[in-house]
Amino acid sequence: MTDTAAPSAASPAPSALRLPAVDKVLLSADMLALRERHGLDACTQAVRESLAQMRADAQERLRSGEPDAGAPGITEVVQAAGLRLAQRFAPRLRTVFNLTGTVLHTNLGRALLPQEAVDAVVAAMTAPANLEYDLEDGGRGDRDDLIESLVCELTGAEACTVVNNNAAAVLLTLATLAAGREVIVSRGELVEIGGAFRIPDMMTRAGATLVEVGTTNRTHARDYEGAVGEHTGLLMKVHCSNYAITGFTKAVSDAEVASIAHAHGLQMVVDLGSGTLVDLREWGLPYEVTVRETIESGADIVTFSGDKLLGGPQAGLIVGRKDLIARIKKHPLKRALRVSKLTLAALEPTLRLYLHPEKLAERLTTLRLFTRPQADMQARAQALQPLVQQALGSRYVVETAEMNSQIGSGALPVENLPSWGLRLHPADGRQAGRQLTRLEAGLRSLPRPVIGRLHDDALWLDLRCLEAADEPAFTEQLPLLHIA
Ligand SMILES: *Cc1c(COP(=O)(O)O)cnc(C)c1O
Repeated sequence: MTDTAAPSAASPAPSALRLPAVDKVLLSADMLALRERHGLDACTQAVRESLAQMRADAQERLRSGEPDAGAPGITEVVQAAGLRLAQRFAPRLRTVFNLTGTVLHTNLGRALLPQEAVDAVVAAMTAPANLEYDLEDGGRGDRDDLIESLVCELTGAEACTVVNNNAAAVLLTLATLAAGREVIVSRGELVEIGGAFRIPDMMTRAGATLVEVGTTNRTHARDYEGAVGEHTGLLMKVHCSNYAITGFTKAVSDAEVASIAHAHGLQMVVDLGSGTLVDLREWGLPYEVTVRETIESGADIVTFSGDKLLGGPQAGLIVGRKDLIARIKKHPLKRALRVSKLTLAALEPTLRLYLHPEKLAERLTTLRLFTRPQADMQARAQALQPLVQQALGSRYVVETAEMNSQIGSGALPVENLPSWGLRLHPADGRQAGRQLTRLEAGLRSLPRPVIGRLHDDALWLDLRCLEAADEPAFTEQLPLLHIA
């Protein structure tokens, strides 16, 4: 602005572009709290970005012929920077309300840990622990020892090792016992689990060759028999976790496959997927084969997840014959797939809850949710209906409704758990699809997002997973609901 000869400086800059300098903003009293909280670097960046945005906006307004309304002051810049910082430092991993009706929802983090597990994780995170340290002789320990005897007691297996998840358990088992050899699997069991776990791919990665036997709907003992040859390494059974083959079907029992394997001096491995430790019928739930039954039927190795029916942290448990587990533990991949102390800290108390079955449905969160009384959920639906209706206004209708929950995570895919909740739909049927999408988005943008399920031209909020302790947090944020 000193060179009067420059054509661009013929007139002074519009006042809308005379924004405060970065330093001025940073040194202002208004900025102190933000600097204390987020540090100088982050604040400088946020102020620069805010000023750049304000300048671009002002230029745009001037270009479109709006009158020059002057530049924002320091306070406004600080406010804009504060918003940017709040967004930048907001946690990306947030707690949500899972009202989808799927209790073990893989995308929402599967099993919720019992309090005993939470406490143990906090302790292990904040103090040193005997993760691989033998407190009796002061020597080096093995992290699997922390849970092995407990798992063996609960499953009847001889030995156990734990890895990152069940996918890792399958990979490690195959890599140890079947690399360079053939693995015989029924065509009806070549399962894909959401997000790229496919049995044929796991085989390849483990260096084994898949030999498919039978057909999609029917596999006979003679199919397994006929496929056994000099290159066979294993016979494998895979739980059809997320689908069911019905109609004209035939599968060979675990016991039969095990006896065919053993008659040829081979091993039988079962990927059980969910893997329940207890007979769920005792709690009025559908039958699912237990890990113990699978071991008793003759399986040499069984793998299953820690965060499905078991109700613990993400983990893959490998249980079975002692000699085979010893080989699996020595495989170099074991080191790459091992679990952290946090996983073991959470797993141990979760497993211990199973030693007291009378209290299991009260203490193990997943089982408590599976067995929640319908009358309880119905009463909560009736209590919440007017509150949700009020928050949504007259554009939407909120009704209490009976609905069906699912266990989820590929456990018992065709079984439903009768449940209660709220059914939300637009009062005016025109553009119902778009109105529902907006409703869903509104609920998702709450401080603690509410995730429901779209079905039959309505948004269903299944209340099974909204326990009494969480209800105040749910209702308190309802007045903030904004639907575009
Ligand atoms: C879920 C499942 C897996 C994968 O388990 P993760 O713990 O998710 O890795 C593998 N096999 C079967 C049969 C499953 O159901």
